[in-house]
Amino acid sequence: MKTGVIIAAAGSGKRMGAEGNKVLLSLDGKPMLAHSLELFAHLPEVDELVVVARDVDLAVMSEIVAEYAGDKPTKIVVGGAERQESVYNGLMALSKDTDWVLIHDGARPYVTSEIVYRALLAVQKHGAVGVGVPVKDTIKQVEKDFVRKTLPRPELRAMQTPQAFAYELILGAHQEAKRRGLIATDDCALLEELGKPVYIVSGDYGNIKITTPEDLTTANSFFVGYGWDVHRLVEDRPLILCGVEIPWEKGLSGHSDADVAVHAVMDAMLGAVGKGDIGEHFPDIDPRYKGISSLELLHEVLELLKRDKLRVNNVDLTIMAQAPKLSPYKAAMRAKLAELIGIAAGRINIKATTAEGLGFVGREEGIAAAAVVSLCD
Ligand code: MG
Repeated sequence: MKTGVIIAAAGSGKRMGAEGNKVLLSLDGKPMLAHSLELFAHLPEVDELVVVARDVDLAVMSEIVAEYAGDKPTKIVVGGAERQESVYNGLMALSKDTDWVLIHDGARPYVTSEIVYRALLAVQKHGAVGVGVPVKDTIKQVEKDFVRKTLPRPELRAMQTPQAFAYELILGAHQEAKRRGLIATDDCALLEELGKPVYIVSGDYGNIKITTPEDLTTANSFFVGYGWDVHRLVEDRPLILCGVEIPWEKGLSGHSDADVAVHAVMDAMLGAVGKGDIGEHFPDIDPRYKGISSLELLHEVLELLKRDKLRVNNVDLTIMAQAPKLSPYKAAMRAKLAELIGIAAGRINIKATTAEGLGFVGREEGIAAAAVVSLCD
């Protein structure tokens, strides 16, 4: 049995307000199209892939296919003015001995293998399968701004892709639609027009279609990073934690002001965006950073995040110090970080702990800090 997949990616992104094709927009660090392409390319049940693209996108599509389709045989074909025409071109490009075909919209990056398997299993019994989810809103049919009728919600399904068909059946339906001049917004509708039964399996509410910029916001990215730092306690240095000077007989040694807490926070931020560590960004042999306030370095790291259009969601910081007692300064440290990062103090948590007298922290030889930071776009 041979299964082919068509990914329709020839839209222009008009409703997205995008310059080019919306499936090329970046989502979680790769083009939107790459998400579903990668999923189908790695399913052993899939024998062949066809990506339908606009002619202006052919070069970039080839790059995406080369990077994300693995070694699955994949063709790129030029689409038509309408989605239906594009899918038809895709059908024509599939091997003629294809038994089953899955037709998917490139703008649905969150399709899962569970959905695909449900459709594939059902198509072998029913020949034509749609994927749908129960509608949550009440749907009304409207005419000239007045309600004509309320549709019975339990009977309604919001349709998603992929839709699955016996190859000959859907190819025949497209050819018949062409002859009759029928245009439909999905492939199941062509079979409905011909009076053929279409079976429905359940989709997933997460399998959304990215249509408007708001959808891209809903489908936003979330990153987590971890940071850890240690500095030695020495005489004749101020003790600065989260930019707050804490009166104590010793302070932390280092090239900068040795604010171990802020260093851990910065490393967590860099970790979340995959940009190395603070040693790479602010080398301790660089005279520019000698004695610098770590808050200035934090400001630079925040600028890096901004460039990636990311903002801090929350910070959780633990400072490990045998002495001094840090609880009287926690509120001030929290306020300082919140102000600099530009988020509510409630999104920042600072914990202080001793080391029960154990190890270098317990012997008061140094102070350590660990931080977890989450970012979102
Ligand atoms: Mg450090």
